[in-house]
Amino acid sequence: GLILCFGEMLIDFVPTVSGVSLAEAPAFLKAPGGAPANVAIAVSRLGGKVAFIGKLGDDEFGHMLAGILKKNGVSDDGLTFDQSARTALAFVTLRADGEREFMFYRNPSADMLLTPNELNLNLIRSAKVFHYGSISLIVEPSRSAHLKAMEEAKKAGALLSYDPNLRLPLWPSEKEAREKIFSIWDKADVIKISDNELEFLTKTNTIDDATALSLWHPNLKLLLVTLGDHGCRYYTKKFKGSVDAFKVNAVDTTGAGDSFVGALLGKIVDDLSVIEDEPRLKEALKFANACGAITTTKKGAIPALPTEAEALELINKASQWKTI
Ligand code: ATP
Repeated sequence: GLILCFGEMLIDFVPTVSGVSLAEAPAFLKAPGGAPANVAIAVSRLGGKVAFIGKLGDDEFGHMLAGILKKNGVSDDGLTFDQSARTALAFVTLRADGEREFMFYRNPSADMLLTPNELNLNLIRSAKVFHYGSISLIVEPSRSAHLKAMEEAKKAGALLSYDPNLRLPLWPSEKEAREKIFSIWDKADVIKISDNELEFLTKTNTIDDATALSLWHPNLKLLLVTLGDHGCRYYTKKFKGSVDAFKVNAVDTTGAGDSFVGALLGKIVDDLSVIEDEPRLKEALKFANACGAITTTKKGAIPALPTEAEALELINKASQWKTI
């Protein structure tokens, strides 16, 4: 079945050294980014069928990104180009503690200008899974395009998968970020958040089951909280639990969450009953954790996304360690 990823794709400018301000950074490397696009490439690299819906600038960066999708086996049937606005850029600061900060150039960028009329409805209606974030909700017209795409996918029976992927500098205020992120909360079948997003959304600093479950909604099938090198926690109507992370030598966590989501969606797209069967769900999450872990071992998101063979190799190696 087809997995469809909706949202932004942009260029990240990543400094060549960590722990310095943007002003002090001597140089930047360009890296394709945008969470929904990363998820699409994650799915494709693992052998899944996937398309990306979004808008790029009709400029060199936009065509470069379109080429990257194509080269990685992601269908461009849903891709459009804007004649007037440029492809979005983000300058990244790599803080000494490993966290990233972003400064965006979007005034407006092409992704923000996707309109409902430009949506490829046939493509949307053919999706088994429709995955999206929250950045496309920030302003019009991409907000209306996002809402329409979600509605059409749902009507056609797709599973809706939501990773809010909070980027606070893009929002006018924290309050508006929370409100708009929650405005589509109860439409999603699967929601994945990180520990940081859990704290932000619940305005707490306790990461526990009660806090996670305060975000539960009656139509939700699966809630996932990713915890970096502590793995992930899962919640369904019937059970909850955690799956440990793999031990790896992490050098850059960019894209770990996207890799995790892409891997999980690939495991459930053709058999949604996996969500309701705890042993099989744990297997799928173990695979997703392995994919997330591998993604941290190389710089950049897309170059670090694993193939299925690489993920299975890590899983086998880890189980051998346990038996020694
Ligand atoms: P992103 O950095 O892309 O925003 P995220 O914060 O959404 O990522 P994380 O919790 O960092 O997501 O990572 C997703 C998954 O990847 C984790 O659940 C874990 O399985 C794996 N992972 C991330 N970091 C590490 C690490 N340092 N070591 C091992 N596994 C990791």
